[in-house]
Amino acid sequence: MLCPIEVFVFHAVSDRYDEKLNQRADWTPTDEFKTNILALKDKYHFISLDEAFQKLRRDLIRTINYAVLTCDDGFASVMDILPFLEKQQIPVTLFVNPKYMDGVSKREGYTDNPQYILKDEMWNLRSPMITIGMHGYEHNDATQMSKEEFAHSVEKCMSILEQHPQYVPFYAYTWGNYSPMTQQVLIEKELIPVFTDGESNYRYRQGIGRKPIDSYYLKKKVIN
Ligand SMILES: [Zn+2]
Repeated sequence: MLCPIEVFVFHAVSDRYDEKLNQRADWTPTDEFKTNILALKDKYHFISLDEAFQKLRRDLIRTINYAVLTCDDGFASVMDILPFLEKQQIPVTLFVNPKYMDGVSKREGYTDNPQYILKDEMWNLRSPMITIGMHGYEHNDATQMSKEEFAHSVEKCMSILEQHPQYVPFYAYTWGNYSPMTQQVLIEKELIPVFTDGESNYRYRQGIGRKPIDSYYLKKKVIN
């Protein structure tokens, strides 16, 4: 028996929706998020992304339902939910874009600031429950870049984030978009690709599959 390891991704969590700060598909109300997490905790044993990676490479038999929680983009609102996750003993990996940590740079399609976790706040996250992974230097589509551009973006992102004591060498593709070229770049840099493909993980293949738990996707019944 080989139980899958489910890797979940969420984006922004806050009490009220603000169209200047978030896009509807990437937002979950705080109450709903907490309810969903507690329901998942009943069903799964949460482990860190790195522990899941080791298990996927090693396990021939797996009889426990493991899950991993990840969060993309590093929206400022997520800082408020971290104490809840820590209290629940749920590790989380934040996949972030270093460019927006200055509190000034705006991401395309977003009009308000500050909307991202600032660099000082990020560097003060020292809990062993929280790890920091890469999501590109900017939130650009990896498949729309040349190999050189993508490699440069990855290097820039890595040079900043690897200074964080909780850095882990995982790279979550923006919008889940990837190609053989982007896979080659990550493998050359010994980074582990992370997708948003709705897949469960049994053995390690060429990356780690994830399922969204933002309320928009839950309502579309992406999760079975
Ligand atoms: Zn993203």
